[in-house]
Amino acid sequence: MSVLVFADHSEGKFKKTAFEIVSFGKHVAKQAETSLVVLTINAESTSVLSDFGADKILTVQDDRLKTFNARAYADCIQQAVLKENANIIVVDSTNNGLYLAPILAVKLEAGYASNVVDFPASVTPFTVKRKVFSSKGFGLTEIATEHKLIGLAKNSVGIIEHKVNSVEEAFSPSLNDEDFQITSDSIDKTTGKVTIADADIVVSGGRGLKGPENWGMIEELADVLGAATACSKPVSDLGWRPHSEHVGQTGKPVTSNLYIAIGISGAIQHLAGVNSSKVKVVINSDPEAPFFKAADYGIVGDAFEVVPQLIEKLKEF
Ligand code: FAD
Repeated sequence: MSVLVFADHSEGKFKKTAFEIVSFGKHVAKQAETSLVVLTINAESTSVLSDFGADKILTVQDDRLKTFNARAYADCIQQAVLKENANIIVVDSTNNGLYLAPILAVKLEAGYASNVVDFPASVTPFTVKRKVFSSKGFGLTEIATEHKLIGLAKNSVGIIEHKVNSVEEAFSPSLNDEDFQITSDSIDKTTGKVTIADADIVVSGGRGLKGPENWGMIEELADVLGAATACSKPVSDLGWRPHSEHVGQTGKPVTSNLYIAIGISGAIQHLAGVNSSKVKVVINSDPEAPFFKAADYGIVGDAFEVVPQLIEKLKEF
């Protein structure tokens, strides 16, 4: 028995999410008194995974897997699971992870718990805490199947250093031609900006900012904080900001450590997507704005006065 984590990467480099799920996997492996195997596909430098407790690193190098292919990736993971006799399998909650998990669950006949936010409460029976009802609550889920598949929510357990001497092993799974009947080329826009998915801090603007010409201060605040920029749905519908910045129930989910909402009312559909952020700060001129009820900190004031002062103060640090 072992725990197997699939550590995904972007253009060969591991991101924070990968270190989070490896840290999670190590913790679970310790709870279950077993070892942690980390599977990587076409990653550039895998030795860093030993800093987070990977006892064994399985490396797949295959040109056909250069762009993400859910069926082929699921094949690789399934074969690695069987080879390593793994019974607990962990994937992340990025778009790739969310695409992979159900395919993998079917292949392994595994019980799948998505949106897991904490280490297992117990490994026998295997019980995990998950976000439920669009992140409005938490629930405990017991997985009784032999293979247990976990989708770890971002920013939930953090990164824990645990240096070990890893064993690296090349792994060549046999891939099915059928897996490559549908292929896709991914085009990454390298804007150089922090993406909403990777950001620790997100600065978000709403219709209260009156127009696209006023986004300079939002971008400046984001720059000072090293944050990603986001917006409410009407803002992207109006074409003030690109749709890629739209967050909420019908947009991107935000699970950052800090979410700063400026001129956003806090409609239920907006909150559904951003409520999982750890700390929410709201700047709104209307003291009755619903967002204040969901906020950890609130500033009642005109964004055009508050935000420039905030930027000035932050620049002093
Ligand atoms: P408004 O509601 O117009 O609020 C603007 C706020 O700015 C107000 O609170 C106002 O007090 C404040 N303000 C005004 N001037 C200033 C100032 N000078 N300084 C500071 N504050 C100021 N919305 C989303 O965001 N994401 C979604 O995913 C989403 N999905 C939806 C799905 C469905 C099916 C539906 C029906 C709606 C959805 N919506 C979504 C829309 C949502 O219901 C709200 O209409 C929207 O979130 C409101 O956007 P807003 O807060 O930017 O604008």
